[in-house]
Amino acid sequence: MNNAQGQRKALSDELTQTYAEVNLLRAQLNETREQAAVDALTGLLNRRGCQSKLDTFDMEQIHSTIIIDIDHFKEVNDNFGHAVGDKVIQLIANVIKKSISPNDVAARLGGEEFVIVMHNKSSELAKGIAEKIRLSVEKLKLIQKQTNTHLPSISVSLGVAELSERESWDSVFDRADKAMYQAKQQGRNRCIISPDYCLA
Ligand code: GH3
Ligand code: MG
Ligand code: MG
Repeated sequence: MNNAQGQRKALSDELTQTYAEVNLLRAQLNETREQAAVDALTGLLNRRGCQSKLDTFDMEQIHSTIIIDIDHFKEVNDNFGHAVGDKVIQLIANVIKKSISPNDVAARLGGEEFVIVMHNKSSELAKGIAEKIRLSVEKLKLIQKQTNTHLPSISVSLGVAELSERESWDSVFDRADKAMYQAKQQGRNRCIISPDYCLA
């Protein structure tokens, strides 16, 4: 190999290595982006991930939101410890995952509160799913393995709201949240549909 060929070979090797490094960084960047969108405890989307998924929805179609909040969750933590509380959050997230279709969006909004955005579904259909979730959570059998203690049954309160024409996601989330609080006030372990959205 003469001098020029040698230089070309060294340059080509260097380029190959640079490409490999760029590809690795690209993969790491994608992974970091995904992690930033996903809630570590449940594997559901987090608030940010939920928002970016909603940006892809066609606002001309009918969509409904369900807000879900665990009832008296503080008592689970207080009586059985934070680790058991975390496990309960995971079990409820699994119920939610099993209850939705691939086009729907489910996220943990923080703490013990979740949202589902049902793609192309009316509030009537969403209420049907919400009721199934409520009953599935009620039926969960929870046993603390170390002590073989049965935990008291867990329940959730849910609020449903259908996105209206020209309504923002913030507004429909807010209406679903208000409906969920009404469910709390009326005794918990129930699901309430928000009244229709009125433009002021
Ligand atoms: P309500 O029926 O009115 O919703 O009562 P609640 O006890 O569920 O509601 P409250 O807001 O009083 O308490 C929520 C508790 O959730 C308090 C907080 O310590 C706990 N919590 C929030 N995030 C987590 C978490 O990631 N893991 C665990 N184990 N507990 C959490
Ligand atoms: Mg709660
Ligand atoms: Mg809460």
